[in-house]
Amino acid sequence: MDSSISALIQRAADDIKNSNYAIALTGAGFSTESGIRDFRGPDGLWTKHPELEQKAYEDYAAFESNAKTWWQSRVETPDILADELGKASPNPGHIALRDLEELKKLKCVITQNIDNLHQAAGSKTVIDFHGNISRLRCLSCNRRYPTEEFDIRRLYETNQLPPRCVSCGDPIKPDVVYFGEPIPSDVATRSEQEALNCDLMMVCGTSAVVYPFANLPVIASGRHRTSLTSIFEFGLSRSSQPTIIIEINAEPTPLTEGGISDYLIQGKTGEILPRIVSALRKMM
Ligand code: NAD
Repeated sequence: MDSSISALIQRAADDIKNSNYAIALTGAGFSTESGIRDFRGPDGLWTKHPELEQKAYEDYAAFESNAKTWWQSRVETPDILADELGKASPNPGHIALRDLEELKKLKCVITQNIDNLHQAAGSKTVIDFHGNISRLRCLSCNRRYPTEEFDIRRLYETNQLPPRCVSCGDPIKPDVVYFGEPIPSDVATRSEQEALNCDLMMVCGTSAVVYPFANLPVIASGRHRTSLTSIFEFGLSRSSQPTIIIEINAEPTPLTEGGISDYLIQGKTGEILPRIVSALRKMM
């Protein structure tokens, strides 16, 4: 690893040590080292199968217009991403964030990932911004259910799809948030509050183009994303100390180019984060 990356790793460890309320945001790139493809990276699911991107954009409208046929088609169609998710286990990046929480230097993880790998690694405070594959959710009342509470195959074979909410009787869908679907209000409120509370945010393995998730670093930084040269402050009432935004990603993103992040550590999260934790342990 070259000396400039090593210097940035040390800088991140110093910043985390000096922080009072650090949080981490993670995206699909975080789980590529667990064998789950991201969408838009060079080997991404959509890069290789563009037809799946189109289907993803239509999924929510299809569920809303007819939940029964949507569930039937889900049972009948193989799901490449679900297959990869089923086989995956946490990688060293997940373990490093768990370690930071145990060291009391990380308050929470807000993840775009639906794969449940932060929880599998042992992280305790995880906000699943785009839902979690291990749950189902009622769109009307937000009640969540463990997936195994419903025998979808049996409901399919007995013509009883869609599964219905025990509380309000409305059709339920996977907890995963689809394109065009609003972020559940409880999750959106909690995430925005964490972005306002933090004094350090690590943004890891995300292309930062999916909204409103990509807005969380903008909220935390207190800066508008305007142009490369024009950055100005929000009028939010928050501490005078600016929040430090650290990106750890395989490539620069709009946060890098728009001046929202303070610095980018370019590389794999599964390699960089364990080195940050190790540098931090030496200082504690
Ligand atoms: P994205 O595919 O748009 O971007 C991934 C980014 O991570 C890219 O910039 C890529 O270069 C980078 N990257 C890839 N491997 C990396 C690594 N090992 N270390 C560091 N960086 C790496 O992903 P996104 O921004 O999260 O948006 C995609 C959407 O798809 C999200 O909403 C997410 O919910 C969903 N998704 C989730 C999973 C999952 O749960 N694991 C997988 C695919 C997609």
